[in-house]
Amino acid sequence: MARAAIVTGGTRGIGEAISLALRDMGMTVAANYAGNDDKAAAFTARTGIKAYKWDVGDHQACLDGVARVEAELGPVDVVVNNAGITRDGTLMKMSYDQWDEVIRVNLGGCFNMAKAVFAGMKSRGFGRIVNIGSINGQAGQYGQVNYASAKSGIHGFTKALAQEGARFGITVNAIAPGYIDTDMVAAVPGEVLEKIVAKIPAGRLGQAQEIARGVAFLCADDAGFVTGSTLSINGGQHMY
Ligand code: NDP
Repeated sequence: MARAAIVTGGTRGIGEAISLALRDMGMTVAANYAGNDDKAAAFTARTGIKAYKWDVGDHQACLDGVARVEAELGPVDVVVNNAGITRDGTLMKMSYDQWDEVIRVNLGGCFNMAKAVFAGMKSRGFGRIVNIGSINGQAGQYGQVNYASAKSGIHGFTKALAQEGARFGITVNAIAPGYIDTDMVAAVPGEVLEKIVAKIPAGRLGQAQEIARGVAFLCADDAGFVTGSTLSINGGQHMY
Protein backbone atom coordinates (compact mmCIF):
# COMPACT_ATOMS: atom_id res chain seq x y z
CA MET A 1 0.00 0.00 0.00
CA ALA A 2 1.25 3.49 -0.87
CA ARG A 3 2.45 5.52 2.07
CA ALA A 4 0.12 8.33 3.15
CA ALA A 5 1.62 11.78 3.63
CA ILE A 6 0.25 15.04 5.01
CA VAL A 7 1.68 18.34 3.80
CA THR A 8 0.46 21.26 5.92
CA GLY A 9 -0.10 24.39 3.87
CA GLY A 10 0.15 21.98 0.96
CA THR A 11 -2.17 23.69 -1.50
CA ARG A 12 0.00 26.57 -2.70
CA GLY A 13 3.52 27.97 -2.77
CA ILE A 14 6.27 25.73 -1.44
CA GLY A 15 3.65 23.34 -0.01
CA GLU A 16 2.11 22.71 -3.43
CA ALA A 17 5.51 21.78 -4.85
CA ILE A 18 6.08 19.44 -1.88
CA SER A 19 2.67 17.79 -2.33
CA LEU A 20 3.48 17.12 -5.99
CA ALA A 21 6.97 15.81 -5.24
CA LEU A 22 5.67 13.31 -2.66
CA ARG A 23 2.88 12.25 -5.01
CA ASP A 24 5.49 11.67 -7.72
CA MET A 25 7.33 9.38 -5.25
CA GLY A 26 4.21 7.20 -5.16
CA MET A 27 2.70 8.49 -1.90
CA THR A 28 -0.97 9.24 -1.33
CA VAL A 29 -0.94 12.89 -0.32
CA ALA A 30 -3.33 14.93 1.82
CA ALA A 31 -2.76 18.66 1.39
CA ASN A 32 -3.87 20.67 4.41
CA TYR A 33 -4.75 24.38 4.23
CA ALA A 34 -6.17 27.10 6.49
CA GLY A 35 -8.98 28.98 4.79
CA ASN A 36 -8.31 29.84 1.16
CA ASP A 37 -11.00 27.54 -0.28
CA ASP A 38 -10.69 28.87 -3.86
CA LYS A 39 -6.95 28.19 -4.05
CA ALA A 40 -7.46 24.75 -2.47
CA ALA A 41 -10.23 23.81 -4.92
CA ALA A 42 -8.11 24.97 -7.88
CA PHE A 43 -5.17 22.95 -6.53
CA THR A 44 -7.29 19.78 -6.28
CA ALA A 45 -8.74 20.32 -9.76
CA ARG A 46 -5.22 20.79 -11.15
CA THR A 47 -3.49 17.93 -9.36
CA GLY A 48 -6.14 15.45 -8.23
CA ILE A 49 -4.70 15.71 -4.68
CA LYS A 50 -7.33 16.01 -1.98
CA ALA A 51 -7.26 19.11 0.23
CA TYR A 52 -8.19 19.12 3.94
CA LYS A 53 -9.01 22.31 5.83
CA TRP A 54 -7.93 22.85 9.41
CA ASP A 55 -5.87 25.31 11.44
CA VAL A 56 -2.53 23.73 12.41
CA GLY A 57 -2.31 26.14 15.34
CA ASP A 58 -5.37 24.47 16.88
CA HIS A 59 -4.33 21.34 18.79
CA GLN A 60 -7.68 19.54 18.67
CA ALA A 61 -8.18 20.44 15.01
CA CYS A 62 -4.89 18.68 14.20
CA LEU A 63 -5.90 15.54 16.10
CA ASP A 64 -9.27 15.52 14.33
CA GLY A 65 -7.75 16.37 10.92
CA VAL A 66 -5.18 13.57 11.10
CA ALA A 67 -7.89 11.11 12.22
CA ARG A 68 -9.97 12.09 9.18
CA VAL A 69 -7.03 11.67 6.80
CA GLU A 70 -6.17 8.28 8.31
CA ALA A 71 -9.77 7.09 7.98
CA GLU A 72 -9.75 8.04 4.30
CA LEU A 73 -6.15 7.36 3.19
CA GLY A 74 -4.64 4.99 5.78
CA PRO A 75 -1.94 5.41 8.42
CA VAL A 76 0.11 8.58 8.01
CA ASP A 77 3.81 7.74 7.63
CA VAL A 78 5.03 11.14 6.44
CA VAL A 79 4.31 14.66 7.72
CA VAL A 80 5.74 17.85 6.28
CA ASN A 81 5.13 20.80 8.59
CA ASN A 82 5.17 23.53 5.97
CA ALA A 83 2.26 25.81 6.98
CA GLY A 84 3.54 29.20 8.00
CA ILE A 85 2.56 32.84 8.23
CA THR A 86 4.24 36.22 8.71
CA ARG A 87 2.99 39.16 10.79
CA ASP A 88 5.96 41.48 10.44
CA GLY A 89 6.77 44.61 12.43
CA THR A 90 9.55 45.94 14.62
CA LEU A 91 9.27 45.04 18.30
CA MET A 92 8.11 48.60 19.03
CA LYS A 93 5.19 48.22 16.63
CA MET A 94 4.43 44.52 17.02
CA SER A 95 1.27 43.71 19.00
CA TYR A 96 1.05 40.74 21.32
CA ASP A 97 -1.45 39.20 18.90
CA GLN A 98 1.08 39.40 16.04
CA TRP A 99 3.64 37.67 18.26
CA ASP A 100 1.24 35.04 19.50
CA GLU A 101 -0.32 34.14 16.15
CA VAL A 102 3.03 33.47 14.48
CA ILE A 103 4.30 31.34 17.37
CA ARG A 104 0.94 29.51 17.57
CA VAL A 105 0.79 28.63 13.86
CA ASN A 106 4.44 28.25 12.83
CA LEU A 107 5.87 26.55 15.92
CA GLY A 108 2.73 25.28 17.65
CA GLY A 109 1.66 23.66 14.38
CA CYS A 110 4.77 21.44 14.42
CA PHE A 111 4.03 20.28 17.97
CA ASN A 112 0.35 19.69 17.24
CA MET A 113 1.00 17.65 14.10
CA ALA A 114 3.81 15.62 15.66
CA LYS A 115 1.55 14.78 18.62
CA ALA A 116 -1.13 13.60 16.22
CA VAL A 117 1.09 11.16 14.28
CA PHE A 118 4.01 10.15 16.50
CA ALA A 119 2.38 7.24 18.39
CA GLY A 120 1.22 5.62 15.13
CA MET A 121 4.63 6.03 13.52
CA LYS A 122 6.27 4.52 16.59
CA SER A 123 3.97 1.49 16.59
CA ARG A 124 4.68 0.87 12.88
CA GLY A 125 8.43 1.46 13.26
CA PHE A 126 8.56 4.03 10.47
CA GLY A 127 8.07 7.78 10.16
CA ARG A 128 9.33 10.82 8.29
CA ILE A 129 8.76 14.30 9.73
CA VAL A 130 10.16 17.31 7.90
CA ASN A 131 9.75 20.78 9.39
CA ILE A 132 10.12 23.86 7.21
CA GLY A 133 12.18 26.42 9.08
CA SER A 134 13.78 29.48 7.53
CA ILE A 135 17.02 31.30 6.90
CA ASN A 136 15.50 33.98 9.13
CA GLY A 137 15.35 31.50 11.99
CA GLN A 138 19.08 30.90 11.53
CA ALA A 139 20.25 34.46 10.95
CA GLY A 140 17.45 36.63 12.39
CA GLN A 141 15.71 39.37 10.39
CA TYR A 142 14.81 42.97 11.11
CA GLY A 143 11.10 43.32 11.84
CA GLN A 144 10.58 39.62 12.49
CA VAL A 145 11.18 38.80 16.16
CA ASN A 146 8.04 36.64 16.08
CA TYR A 147 8.85 34.78 12.85
CA ALA A 148 12.57 34.37 13.62
CA SER A 149 11.74 33.01 17.09
CA ALA A 150 9.20 30.53 15.73
CA LYS A 151 11.53 29.34 12.97
CA SER A 152 14.52 29.13 15.28
CA GLY A 153 12.29 27.14 17.63
CA ILE A 154 11.49 24.76 14.80
CA HIS A 155 15.18 23.99 14.43
CA GLY A 156 15.46 23.16 18.15
CA PHE A 157 12.21 21.17 18.07
CA THR A 158 13.62 19.13 15.17
CA LYS A 159 16.84 18.21 16.99
CA ALA A 160 15.01 17.26 20.19
CA LEU A 161 12.30 15.15 18.53
CA ALA A 162 14.87 13.44 16.29
CA GLN A 163 16.44 12.00 19.43
CA GLU A 164 13.07 10.64 20.58
CA GLY A 165 12.24 9.06 17.21
CA ALA A 166 15.56 7.59 16.13
CA ARG A 167 15.20 4.20 17.86
CA PHE A 168 11.77 3.72 16.31
CA GLY A 169 12.63 4.37 12.67
CA ILE A 170 11.24 7.90 12.79
CA THR A 171 13.44 10.59 11.30
CA VAL A 172 12.88 14.27 12.04
CA ASN A 173 14.66 16.85 9.90
CA ALA A 174 14.33 20.50 8.97
CA ILE A 175 14.81 22.50 5.82
CA ALA A 176 15.80 26.15 6.08
CA PRO A 177 14.76 27.82 2.83
CA GLY A 178 16.20 31.12 1.75
CA TYR A 179 14.01 33.52 -0.23
CA ILE A 180 11.65 31.57 -2.49
CA ASP A 181 9.38 32.97 -5.18
CA THR A 182 5.91 32.52 -3.57
CA ASP A 183 2.96 34.67 -2.43
CA MET A 184 4.73 35.16 0.93
CA VAL A 185 7.72 36.82 -0.74
CA ALA A 186 5.51 38.66 -3.23
CA ALA A 187 4.13 40.51 -0.18
CA VAL A 188 7.58 42.04 0.48
CA PRO A 189 7.80 45.61 -0.95
CA GLY A 190 9.67 45.73 -4.30
CA GLU A 191 12.55 47.93 -3.14
CA VAL A 192 13.15 45.71 -0.08
CA LEU A 193 13.09 42.59 -2.25
CA GLU A 194 15.65 44.08 -4.64
CA LYS A 195 18.05 44.59 -1.73
CA ILE A 196 17.44 41.03 -0.54
CA VAL A 197 18.12 39.51 -3.98
CA ALA A 198 21.32 41.58 -4.26
CA LYS A 199 22.63 39.69 -1.20
CA ILE A 200 21.92 36.20 -2.62
CA PRO A 201 25.13 34.83 -4.19
CA ALA A 202 23.06 32.84 -6.71
CA GLY A 203 21.62 36.18 -7.86
CA ARG A 204 17.98 35.09 -7.85
CA LEU A 205 15.09 33.90 -5.70
CA GLY A 206 14.72 30.16 -5.23
CA GLN A 207 11.89 28.14 -6.75
CA ALA A 208 9.41 26.11 -4.69
CA GLN A 209 10.49 22.95 -6.51
CA GLU A 210 14.03 23.44 -5.21
CA ILE A 211 12.71 23.11 -1.65
CA ALA A 212 10.49 20.16 -2.58
CA ARG A 213 13.53 18.33 -3.91
CA GLY A 214 15.13 18.48 -0.46
CA VAL A 215 11.92 17.32 1.21
CA ALA A 216 11.66 14.38 -1.17
CA PHE A 217 15.20 13.32 -0.28
CA LEU A 218 14.47 13.45 3.47
CA CYS A 219 11.17 11.55 3.11
CA ALA A 220 12.57 8.65 1.10
CA ASP A 221 12.48 5.16 2.61
CA ASP A 222 16.27 4.91 2.24
CA ALA A 223 16.98 8.20 4.08
CA GLY A 224 16.64 6.49 7.46
CA PHE A 225 20.10 7.46 8.74
CA VAL A 226 19.53 11.19 8.17
CA THR A 227 17.92 12.63 11.27
CA GLY A 228 18.15 15.81 13.32
CA SER A 229 19.69 17.65 10.40
CA THR A 230 18.88 21.03 8.91
CA LEU A 231 19.27 21.33 5.16
CA SER A 232 19.83 24.92 4.08
CA ILE A 233 18.54 25.69 0.58
CA ASN A 234 19.23 29.38 0.08
CA GLY A 235 21.41 30.09 -2.97
CA GLY A 236 24.45 30.57 -0.73
CA GLN A 237 22.94 33.47 1.25
CA HIS A 238 23.71 32.03 4.68
CA MET A 239 26.14 29.20 5.37
CA TYR A 240 25.32 27.76 8.73
P1 NDP B 1 2.42 30.78 1.30
O1 NDP B 1 1.98 31.98 2.06
O2 NDP B 1 2.56 30.88 -0.18
O3 NDP B 1 1.44 29.55 1.64
C1 NDP B 1 1.19 29.24 2.98
C2 NDP B 1 0.39 27.96 3.08
O4 NDP B 1 0.21 27.69 4.48
C3 NDP B 1 -1.00 28.07 2.48
O5 NDP B 1 -1.39 26.81 1.95
C4 NDP B 1 -1.87 28.40 3.70
O6 NDP B 1 -3.23 28.01 3.56
C5 NDP B 1 -1.17 27.57 4.76
N1 NDP B 1 -1.45 28.01 6.12
C6 NDP B 1 -1.22 29.23 6.67
N2 NDP B 1 -1.64 29.26 7.95
C7 NDP B 1 -2.14 28.03 8.21
C8 NDP B 1 -2.77 27.44 9.34
N3 NDP B 1 -2.94 28.11 10.47
N4 NDP B 1 -3.21 26.15 9.24
C9 NDP B 1 -3.05 25.44 8.08
N5 NDP B 1 -2.47 25.96 6.99
C10 NDP B 1 -2.03 27.22 7.05
O7 NDP B 1 3.78 30.34 1.99
P2 NDP B 1 5.15 29.82 1.34
O8 NDP B 1 4.87 28.74 0.38
O9 NDP B 1 5.96 30.99 0.91
O10 NDP B 1 5.88 29.24 2.65
C11 NDP B 1 5.74 27.90 3.05
C12 NDP B 1 6.62 27.68 4.27
O11 NDP B 1 7.98 28.00 3.95
C13 NDP B 1 6.26 28.57 5.46
O12 NDP B 1 6.44 27.86 6.66
C14 NDP B 1 7.26 29.70 5.37
O13 NDP B 1 7.48 30.30 6.62
C15 NDP B 1 8.49 28.94 4.88
N6 NDP B 1 9.46 29.77 4.23
C16 NDP B 1 9.14 30.48 3.10
C17 NDP B 1 10.09 31.25 2.49
C18 NDP B 1 9.80 32.01 1.25
O14 NDP B 1 10.70 32.72 0.80
N7 NDP B 1 8.64 31.92 0.65
C19 NDP B 1 11.46 31.37 3.03
C20 NDP B 1 11.69 30.58 4.20
C21 NDP B 1 10.71 29.82 4.77
P3 NDP B 1 -4.31 28.99 2.83
O15 NDP B 1 -4.02 28.88 1.36
O16 NDP B 1 -5.62 28.44 3.23
O17 NDP B 1 -4.05 30.38 3.36
